Amino acid sequence: MARIDLVDLAHSYGGNDAAPESFALKPISMTWRQGGAYALLGPSGCGKTTLLNLISGIVTPSRGKILFDGVDITPLSTQKRNIAQVFQFPVIYDTMTVGQNLAFPLKNRGMVRSDILARVAEIADLLDLTPYLERKATRLTADAKQKISLGRGLVRSDVAAVLFDEPLTVIDPELKWQLRSKLKALHRELDLTMIYVTHDQTEALTFADTVVVMHDGRVVQSGTPAELFDKPAHTFVGYFIGSPGMNIVPAEVRGREARIDGHIIRLDRNYDGLPPGAKIEIGVRPEFVDVAPPGSGLLLANIERIDDLGRVRFARVRVGDAKFAARVPPGFSIPGNEAGLLFDPAHVHVYADSLLVEGA
Ligand code: ATP
Repeated sequence: MARIDLVDLAHSYGGNDAAPESFALKPISMTWRQGGAYALLGPSGCGKTTLLNLISGIVTPSRGKILFDGVDITPLSTQKRNIAQVFQFPVIYDTMTVGQNLAFPLKNRGMVRSDILARVAEIADLLDLTPYLERKATRLTADAKQKISLGRGLVRSDVAAVLFDEPLTVIDPELKWQLRSKLKALHRELDLTMIYVTHDQTEALTFADTVVVMHDGRVVQSGTPAELFDKPAHTFVGYFIGSPGMNIVPAEVRGREARIDGHIIRLDRNYDGLPPGAKIEIGVRPEFVDVAPPGSGLLLANIERIDDLGRVRFARVRVGDAKFAARVPPGFSIPGNEAGLLFDPAHVHVYADSLLVEGA
């Protein structure tokens, strides 16, 4: 397994002369540590697959370099990069048994038979494939075939990295839930550098130690799931991660106060010195805004609807032109069309031109 450095890496499918804004991947530089579990997360078209394909060598970058353990591998073909890949759809040999499929990448490397058998047994056990080892792959379900693909991706312990491109797409929802946490456990067990592309936040947050959030060809934040939840560096991250996403509303901010539609919210830091002319917004997750009986000092909101999610209810409310999702505390009965909003100041963030501002 390797440390991976991306150095000023960028790609345009329209050639190097294309306008910088049209690049599928705008220049990025970052380091991914050896043995880390990374998820590339973002909506369709944000550049996740492009970045993964640059790392695998399927796509040659318009600019920049990729280093594995300090060695520039940019000119190398996919075969020479010593990586394993798992794609959306199963890539297996139907005519071989499950065991032969799992053994294939090891045989190709010239490993001795006893070592191959031991490793195949270990991987089959981890993926609950042991009872099927002697079966022909062709007779298995799509789910089982994709598990074999995962096994083939994970079987070699000497790869620089294992790359996953939306590997659970074809998996049945019930099994998907199991496999999500299984992949996390496999990462701990096998100690490989893993990079996992998905547009599904639950998959990313379950799997990764570090989630790399992409938007419009850029990495907008890279952090632990808790960091992305607690301190989104960009309004896009706040909105994209979480369900419902973060409330992001325009506000006037001065010192320790934010003003929305004439009402004042207290902040726990001082925001004097915001860049003049910037678009100022506050961001607060619905989990940190509670509806309350209308009362003095509370922001007054019109309730538009209540979403009952079983264990938690969220009210969709409006304050002037601003819309919020707010938690309805357990046992609280909505008094009418209006409610007060209670904010937890420690979780109200301020953004200038979409970027988080650290208050003083
Ligand atoms: P998805 O989840 O839909 O695969 P993604 O985040 O992986 O999306 P990419 O597939 O990397 O995004 O695409 C990034 C941008 O590059 C998109 O605008 C896409 O249309 C464009 N693109 C991707 N592949 C090609 C290609 N082979 N030729 C031209 N443009 C491409």
